Amino acid sequence: MYANNHPALVGSLSSSDPSVKLINFSPGPTSLPKAVEDEIAASFKKPGLTSLALSHRSPEFLNILDHTTASIRRIMDIPDDYEVLFTHGGGHGQFAAVPLNLCHDKSDVATYIVNGTWTERACDEAQRFCTVHTIDGRDPAGGYTTFPELIEEEIDPKSKFIYLCSNETVNGIENHRLPKLPKSRRHIPLVIDASSDFTTKPIDWQGEGVGVLFACASKNIGHPGVTLTIVRRDLLGEDKASPLCPGVFNYTTNLEADNLWNTPSTFNIEVIGYLMAWLEHQGGVAENERRSIAKSRILYDVIDNSGGFYGTPVQDKALRSRMNIPFNIKGGDENVTDEFLIQSWNEGMVGLRTLTPFGVGEYLRASLYNCITEENAAKLADFMQRFASRNLA
Ligand SMILES: *Cc1c(COP(=O)(O)O)cnc(C)c1O
Repeated sequence: MYANNHPALVGSLSSSDPSVKLINFSPGPTSLPKAVEDEIAASFKKPGLTSLALSHRSPEFLNILDHTTASIRRIMDIPDDYEVLFTHGGGHGQFAAVPLNLCHDKSDVATYIVNGTWTERACDEAQRFCTVHTIDGRDPAGGYTTFPELIEEEIDPKSKFIYLCSNETVNGIENHRLPKLPKSRRHIPLVIDASSDFTTKPIDWQGEGVGVLFACASKNIGHPGVTLTIVRRDLLGEDKASPLCPGVFNYTTNLEADNLWNTPSTFNIEVIGYLMAWLEHQGGVAENERRSIAKSRILYDVIDNSGGFYGTPVQDKALRSRMNIPFNIKGGDENVTDEFLIQSWNEGMVGLRTLTPFGVGEYLRASLYNCITEENAAKLADFMQRFASRNLA
């Protein structure tokens, strides 16, 4: 029906009409809350140097680094026996850094719970550095729509860590709380990829046995270029990491250098500080979780009450992501989906389809990170209802 190079169909994030207010539903990188974006803009108008121009060893930057670290600790309630690192190489960097730091050599075993695109990728990368056991989370139809039960026999007690992703961004599967390991396996540290849900729910660090948690900044807390990696101290030590672990990835090396082993992403670290201040001002993590529940519910309600006009792959409501809501339209009808994309784009709602290396697929996806307000989610819900009633005939 439409030339398939219409901007809305190839993932355009701008509007042909500059007066339309954009709402960015992108899966990441994405917008930050308006107040944070305003603060970044204002920082360029203040007298003095911005962190883009500051030496990372200057007292001015050290102040920013201390401030950001302290805010993350306070707001995420991180106990004293955990260290906060600002690492390089994004989430993918951590896919390699985790086994390189926690496994001394290739014979060391690690257990990977694979239930979506990102755990698949992490698992593939880890095969190069350690002996990977997987717990396969595919559903009977071969898709990823669930989280597997954790059975004692399937977890080698000698595993150096158990790896999981708390929110599978592409598939829309979330652990709203971290899963409990079988009692006999609770000595094994959990490694959590929280790239797309960090700050949106509390974490019981010690109670849930978190060993390492990382989050690339570009979903909820900042921009591409820095990744937050939080490590329990007993897992650190030069003797624990693989001798092949590069310095930039080595947790102990970076910690001993106070996050200044090489040049850190200075500006990105400052931005995380702004985001944390915003979060605190908004009522912290508990309030952020309430907002996330409200934002996602309004969209899932439209989907569930659409009489099948909209569909979403994850049926178990306890596992539905509050961050990324995949949905199809009329069973994936291409013409109706194109129409939906163009009309919503015309109303300023962008980022619902991203061209990814994993293909377009039949599903659109609404991502509800910290930049999306309850009002923004309601606007999309309202559009979806109007669109459905126009196209139900
Ligand atoms: C986006 C994402 C990644 C990839 O991060 P990069 O910074 O692009 O390497 C990893 N894990 C999850 C869960 C993600 O959402």
